[in-house]
Amino acid sequence: MQKFSTGNKIRRGAGITSSTLFNMKVMKFGGTSVGSAQRMKNMVALVAAEGNVMVVLSAMSGTTNSLIGISQFIKDNELANASKQIDDLENKYESTAEELLTDKELLGQAKTNLKKIFTELRSYVNRPHTSKEEKEVVAFGEKLSTMLVSLYMKERGLDAVLLDATEFMRINEHGEPDQKFIKENIQKTLENNPGHQIYLTQGFICRNMDGEIDNLQRGGSDYTASLLGAAIPSTEIQIWTDIDGMHNNDPRFVEGTKPVNELHFEEAAELAYFGAKILHPTCVLPAKHANIPVRLLNTMEPEAEGTRIYNTEPTRKIKAVAAKDNITAIKIKSSHMLLAYGFLRKVFEIFEKYQTSIDMITTSEVGVSVTIDNERNLKQIVAELSELGNVTVDREMVIVCVVGDLEWQNRGFEAEVVNALKEVPVRMISYGGSNYNISLLIRKDDKIKALKLLSEHLF
Ligand code: ADP
Ligand code: ASP
Ligand code: MG
Repeated sequence: MQKFSTGNKIRRGAGITSSTLFNMKVMKFGGTSVGSAQRMKNMVALVAAEGNVMVVLSAMSGTTNSLIGISQFIKDNELANASKQIDDLENKYESTAEELLTDKELLGQAKTNLKKIFTELRSYVNRPHTSKEEKEVVAFGEKLSTMLVSLYMKERGLDAVLLDATEFMRINEHGEPDQKFIKENIQKTLENNPGHQIYLTQGFICRNMDGEIDNLQRGGSDYTASLLGAAIPSTEIQIWTDIDGMHNNDPRFVEGTKPVNELHFEEAAELAYFGAKILHPTCVLPAKHANIPVRLLNTMEPEAEGTRIYNTEPTRKIKAVAAKDNITAIKIKSSHMLLAYGFLRKVFEIFEKYQTSIDMITTSEVGVSVTIDNERNLKQIVAELSELGNVTVDREMVIVCVVGDLEWQNRGFEAEVVNALKEVPVRMISYGGSNYNISLLIRKDDKIKALKLLSEHLF
């Protein structure tokens, strides 16, 4: 753990009281928000203005992809390419450090740290590379960004302490966050480092049950922020990114999308799970359970209102649309299903056995259709389902998800959605599973058309 403190804003060693803990916000900055020296300076200015915060950082944009590339080169025994990519990355970090730090001593410290980190990274090139080494390599990105930002905070005279996320972020044997461990250990870490203005740590990285370095999956820094926000517990979880909040449709495919100022936790959770890339799929859940508001804010436009996610009052409105790619639909048709009980249990047991979760489900008297987003065990699943009936598989499908306050007694929402998509072939429709979403399964090739039609008709 690296500690530094130059400010006197808070009495040192005063002991962290529950009220100091309670007043802390979590601020998470994504890849683009730390994507260059200038961006790092901007985000530090935002943090300095806030004070009393836990700051969670992603890797600089492009770094995690680059580390995954390095790991792949090593696996494929393309060692010269791996080394070249490590050199390029080191050059990028050296020039970022030079642009970021003016203080000679701190710049020297950054360069020494970079030498050490990149020597360690190079040591992976000439040894066996399993998934353990792959996860260790991927973890370098967040260590690099937090190292540089912590030195810049020091240069600015801020009272900050850098915490090693692998000391308190942990996943269990199912790859799920161990929230009890996280709570106990982040609170202990804060108690051992009392009274600072800024606690800085890495997003994404953690340890697993066996104590090995692991991660919370791509985009997982959001998840770190909400897990820590719930564990501390903080007063608010801010996700700072490159757009002014959750938009009402995917801005990568649809023009003229607009930010949604308020979302219920459930609405945000559905949107994140069904493809709104601005949030990691499960990151809303810890905040929802702890009832801590989440705000999505834009580092490039800090005064913009963004999106506030909390327990909103009912609005009776459709709020936004998202799409989840790489979906496979499986239909099981069986005359045995007619008037039989226990058929669905048998179907679900097969998915459970192969640890494959089901997203959508629709049934009729003679068949059931489900969707999955993970084809790892598709072959075995289809083989076992075939014993129950006739199985057909449709691949390269997309779930389009319409989200809002869609309580069933509020009339007309489903008609509006289906009407908007009357030109698009729809393979499945799911409505009524929650009060917050209508999901439709369509072909991948129809996705952009469907998203545009929904924006035209609904907003
Ligand atoms: P970060 O690196 O800060 O975590 P991400 O790239 O993960 O940022 O998420 C922000 C991006 O999410 C935006 O630039 C935008 O392209 C994309 N995005 C997809 N759907 C939405 C949506 N509904 N609202 C806002 N952004 C979205
Ligand atoms: N750096 C990780 C990624 O690119 C985590 C994150 O940015 O949220 O997936
Ligand atoms: Mg992200």
